Amino acid sequence: MNAVTRLLRDLVAIPSVNPRLLGPDVETPAEEPVAEYLSVLAKKHGLDVSRQAVLPGRRNLLVRLKPSGKVKKRILLAPHMDVVPADDSQFKPSISNGRLYGRGACDTKGCIAAYFHALCQIAKYKQRLQHTEIIFLGLIDEEHLQSGSRAYARNGPKADLAIVGEPTRLQIITAHKGDFWWQLKVVGKAAHGATPHLGKSAVHQMARTVEILLTEYNDSLKEKQHPLLGSPTINIGVIQGGTQPNIVPDTCSIDIDRRTLPGETENTVRKEILDVLKPHGLKPDFLDLRGVPCDALETNPALPLVQRFMKVARRRRTLGADFFTDASPLASAGIPAILYGPGDIAQAHTSEEWIDLTQLEQATEVVKRFLQEVES
Ligand SMILES: [Zn+2]
Repeated sequence: MNAVTRLLRDLVAIPSVNPRLLGPDVETPAEEPVAEYLSVLAKKHGLDVSRQAVLPGRRNLLVRLKPSGKVKKRILLAPHMDVVPADDSQFKPSISNGRLYGRGACDTKGCIAAYFHALCQIAKYKQRLQHTEIIFLGLIDEEHLQSGSRAYARNGPKADLAIVGEPTRLQIITAHKGDFWWQLKVVGKAAHGATPHLGKSAVHQMARTVEILLTEYNDSLKEKQHPLLGSPTINIGVIQGGTQPNIVPDTCSIDIDRRTLPGETENTVRKEILDVLKPHGLKPDFLDLRGVPCDALETNPALPLVQRFMKVARRRRTLGADFFTDASPLASAGIPAILYGPGDIAQAHTSEEWIDLTQLEQATEVVKRFLQEVES
């Protein structure tokens, strides 16, 4: 077994389930044991280790390879350390047919192993860069509210490029959608079920709202097109209203997930929805269900560092992704961010998560070469 596979196997065997996905009262050490394991390894390689406090008991991990001279450029290698919940058996990694199975294998401990191993290799051979600082940034809480990347975006050192670890099948992703989670609520007037004409049904208002959003509004979304991302979408995932058959319901709400394209903001999208509903006499209230911005990502592939990475990875073009990532908060702080990593998002969060070990090795090699050549 090669060194990077061994590292991945060790990482998968350390559970780091995001406690926020386990319920309000569940306490676990979360990402800490993974961060501890990597810290020990980093120190062995003479790398500088520091931590950034984010949530109670949960900290980002920063492992730095400092340049020999003054820092003029900075590159972040930023995978996340948390994983989604799984059976105990998924924390016992197994290898067969060139795949490593286990929770987090592709999302995103494969990226941790690849990036971290590449960095250690460079540190080991004393290939100090002159003016480029490399920071391995192990993030917490990606799977819930991305608190780790949001905290780094607020307080962390600025950087010239962030390679965010997600399973992209070794493709380079420069754009992904954003999303808004809103609750829309309408208010009617309660009355006895025997005299419904004395009330005003909130359920009926909401039924009309749902119909308009999923037909007229949905059709209008298809007219917006992004070359890498296609059209924005809307999903109505929850509807709640009324209490009893014999009471005219006075409130009804829906929870919507509106996936956005770059450039769409909370205000523009909210106005767009209200404008569609207004001619029908509907004016729901909006409530943000998360309280954190989740904007779309769009990084210019023509940036010199992105071009250089594309060259090393032998990719002529970059792609878009449907899923939301830590790249968005980093990019919102002015750090150009791309996604690159081994494994396929199709296996993420499944009961049979796995990663292709050939891809793991290739990603390690690409990241290592990119870092080695970044100043040449
Ligand atoms: Zn995930």
